[in-house]
Amino acid sequence: MRRKEFVVIGLGRFGGSICRELSNLGMSVLAIDKNEELVDNYADFVTEAVVADTTDESVLKNLGIRNFDHVIVAIGDDIQSSILTTLILKEMGVKKVTAKALNEYHEKVLKKIGADQIVHPERDMGRRLAHNLVSSNVLDYLELSDKHSLVEIVANPAIAGRTIIDLNVRARYGLNIVAIKRNDDMIVSPPASEMILEEDILIVIGSNTDITKFEKQML
Ligand code: ADP
Repeated sequence: MRRKEFVVIGLGRFGGSICRELSNLGMSVLAIDKNEELVDNYADFVTEAVVADTTDESVLKNLGIRNFDHVIVAIGDDIQSSILTTLILKEMGVKKVTAKALNEYHEKVLKKIGADQIVHPERDMGRRLAHNLVSSNVLDYLELSDKHSLVEIVANPAIAGRTIIDLNVRARYGLNIVAIKRNDDMIVSPPASEMILEEDILIVIGSNTDITKFEKQML
């Protein structure tokens, strides 16, 4: 695999942790922030760390940002800078821009100006936690679109000891069990005859309303 080249703009908690993980994964990372102290903190473990204000187009041009594979705009509270930076990046022809949105309005604008991927870490983490708080059997909750999600559910006694056909989740709830994690194994596309064991982790996909119905009735 070719070593992918990333740019991370904004070295707060979110952007900082992206830099750390990408570097750990062996990727090339150019880290940018207008705060010199933060840039110094990252200088040792990313490929290059630069102090710059990314709302200045000439700065981005001089850094050759256009040639990178993927730019992550992790600017937090300063919505104006986040929007302006994303706009300049897309106008310059950067192929893939992922931007962090603070709220729905911010997300809407980012979408309009061409951000390729928009992440909403606080909102998404809040949703995941809420599902886990309501039922400790829900380990993870990943939103796939406005209407569909993928959830990881630990089989409780109400589910365990029954086969997939017996549970009949597809007909009763409109959900699909796409995989079962059992110890270190992963049963992908399990057959309808598969018996679910206690502590199995079911990976279920479906509409948000169907998932909520299933969580309320089965967990
Ligand atoms: P988090 O919630 O992830 O901690 P922050 O708002 O604390 O986010 O961090 C965002 C970072 O983005 C800050 O370090 C800030 O200096 C940086 N930043 C904001 N505007 C710009 C800009 N125009 N150019 C470069 N960096 C910026």
